[in-house]
Amino acid sequence: MHAVSDLSTAAYCPRQLYYRRDDDCEIPPSVADRRELAFEYDDLLDADDAMLAERPIELPPEQYRATLDRTRERIERWDELADPPHREVLLTGRECRGIASKVLESPLAPSYVSPGAPPERGVWEPHSVRAVALAKALSWEREELVETAFVEYPAYGTVRELSLTTRRKAGYRAAIGAVERMDGPPSRLTNSAKCDACEYRERCGTRTRSLRSLLGL
Ligand code: SF4
Repeated sequence: MHAVSDLSTAAYCPRQLYYRRDDDCEIPPSVADRRELAFEYDDLLDADDAMLAERPIELPPEQYRATLDRTRERIERWDELADPPHREVLLTGRECRGIASKVLESPLAPSYVSPGAPPERGVWEPHSVRAVALAKALSWEREELVETAFVEYPAYGTVRELSLTTRRKAGYRAAIGAVERMDGPPSRLTNSAKCDACEYRERCGTRTRSLRSLLGL
């Protein structure tokens, strides 16, 4: 049985997962505050600039409201996401277990709320793996097909809906394989932008790319 969060981290970098398992991972309050935004969408749409300025959003108030409004229009299941029937649900599947931020009914769909920024299109690969893992666990628990999942980036007013395509399922399987093969520190990534944002950069001994360029490497 794998933790969904481990699969997501392994999809980012297996070595990061090796370090993280060594750490006591507590969710920082800033992360919890950003995730809370995903349960306040209706209030955020109505909030004035002063109210938004007090919330942990990452866009100027006017742009945030406009982005969130476009998301509301674009996402068919917006009403359920804004007022979900189930919150913070621990799901246990055949291979993995983890917490879905929201679970929607009929059709079943899990949602993961990210504290971070969305990519320009779609979702980041670790989030794709996490969403597939949650969908599979939900499907296993309820004995029902789950074909879609959501990833929310509430600090940016963005929600992405994703289908469980063959490619996404292959990413999930690759993450399971990476976790199961790990019996020591996995290799470092080579010259990857991922290292620039990694909290284990120093421990790992990886130079950031900007330092590389300063040194002419
Ligand atoms: S610094 Fe790079 S190689 Fe090292 S753990 Fe982080 S992402 Fe992986």
